Amino acid sequence: MRNQLVEIVKAKGVSDKNVLGAIGTVPRHLFMDSSFEDHAYQDKAFPIAANQTISQPYTVAFQTELLDLKPGDKVLEIGTGSGYQTAVLIYLKAKVYTIERQLELYKKTKLFFNKMGYRPKKYIFGDGYIGLPEEAPFNSIIVTAGAPNIPKALLSQMAIGGRLVIPVGEEEQVMTRIIRTSTKEFKREEHGTFRFVPLLENKN
Ligand code: SAH
Repeated sequence: MRNQLVEIVKAKGVSDKNVLGAIGTVPRHLFMDSSFEDHAYQDKAFPIAANQTISQPYTVAFQTELLDLKPGDKVLEIGTGSGYQTAVLIYLKAKVYTIERQLELYKKTKLFFNKMGYRPKKYIFGDGYIGLPEEAPFNSIIVTAGAPNIPKALLSQMAIGGRLVIPVGEEEQVMTRIIRTSTKEFKREEHGTFRFVPLLENKN
């Protein structure tokens, strides 16, 4: 079933062999509630705890491809959720720092990571809007929730040459990639429209 999912994701345009390898390897059914397990290898988002969703596999693969990772890259992930994207990043040998703001989900996924032996460098309960200044700079930053705007803190935590992949918008989001070309210069690209649960600031 995972191999079929790889074919679906490939047909939608993802071509990076390592990313396809991750989709073909990470056992997505284990990241989902048992009631949805049978659907785990459909290319769809599903509900997880705290009214959140596990992202669609194509979206995970596409965002990961845009990160342009090299083994050992330092990656900041905002919105751990089920941990599926985290596991994909770990498969690609990234050093992952991941932040989740829903306590229920944070605790659930923490137990799951321990059980499965997935080891992000740091797994933090907090507000991804402010990033993780004490661990910056990052080679890549991935945001897995829809952001009304691009948080300034995240731009300042990018390494030179680093990539930020973030869905920007309210109702629907434009997949945006920012590449930091120098201390002060950023290049912006747009890569199609998606729908995510919202990135929430702590004050909400
Ligand atoms: N990559 C996850 C996606 C989960 S949905 C997966 O595939 O399972 C987006 C996640 O972002 C939710 O878990 C939500 O709680 C979290 N989130 C929303 N706003 C956040 C913020 N400001 N900081 C950290 N996490 C946030």
